[in-house]
Amino acid sequence: PLGTRPLLEVEGLGVRFGQVVALENVDLVVPEGTVMGLIGPNGAGKSTLTDALSGFLTSATGSVTLDGRKLDGMPVHRRAAAGLRRTFQQDRVPTGLTVGAYLRFAAHRSVTREELEEVRTFLGCPALNAHVFDLDVGSRRLLEVAAALLARPKLIILDEPAAGLAHAESLALADRLVEVPARFGASVLLIEHDLDMVRRACASVVVLDFGSVIASGPPAEVLARPEVARAYLGD
Ligand code: ADP
Ligand code: MG
Repeated sequence: PLGTRPLLEVEGLGVRFGQVVALENVDLVVPEGTVMGLIGPNGAGKSTLTDALSGFLTSATGSVTLDGRKLDGMPVHRRAAAGLRRTFQQDRVPTGLTVGAYLRFAAHRSVTREELEEVRTFLGCPALNAHVFDLDVGSRRLLEVAAALLARPKLIILDEPAAGLAHAESLALADRLVEVPARFGASVLLIEHDLDMVRRACASVVVLDFGSVIASGPPAEVLARPEVARAYLGD
């Protein structure tokens, strides 16, 4: 059944920037066929974890396994080929392209027009002939998610995809993300500040604080814990 087999297994992950310990001894498992949340206050290490898992940060210690395959030491493109795709917290969509041209380029594989239209309409992205330059920030964020889906990865790590979206749009995106495992065959690790979105999208959630995992489990249970509330009050 979905949600039982481990897809991503992280053991003892550590990252230092000089004297700053950005991540320390992080263990986590993303089960196959699920949407898992990764939350925590600013500076907790969420983006650093994304960089370490995807290979953008090469100094991480510990071990990362995707679908039974060790990713340690692999550069970004090999981790991508192994099925790991991530989006960036900062908008990186080039403004000189149409939506269709961007999606074809960013999918990193050849995609049919039918696939483009399927993903575009699934997420409610603008028409393929729209110009990225004319889009608002929220629409550009959705294009990154669309490109990630088109790549057909096993795991998609979304670093605050709803930054720039209105609250109602965030909740709509949450509803779409819930459908991703069954529809696109990918698990999702969702980094998100909007806890309503996390409750709506995620079967489970992991909380990072000062580079360590302080809680994990179902959102309703985890978000009710006093240590989680304390971590957020310090934000
Ligand atoms: P989050 O995404 O949870 O807000 P980050 O992963 O961006 O947190 O940052 C975690 C910690 O690592 C913070 O203390 C941040 O200042 C530090 N940090 C992140 N990237 C770098 C870097 N390239 N050099 C030095 N320190 C960094
Ligand atoms: Mg971040």
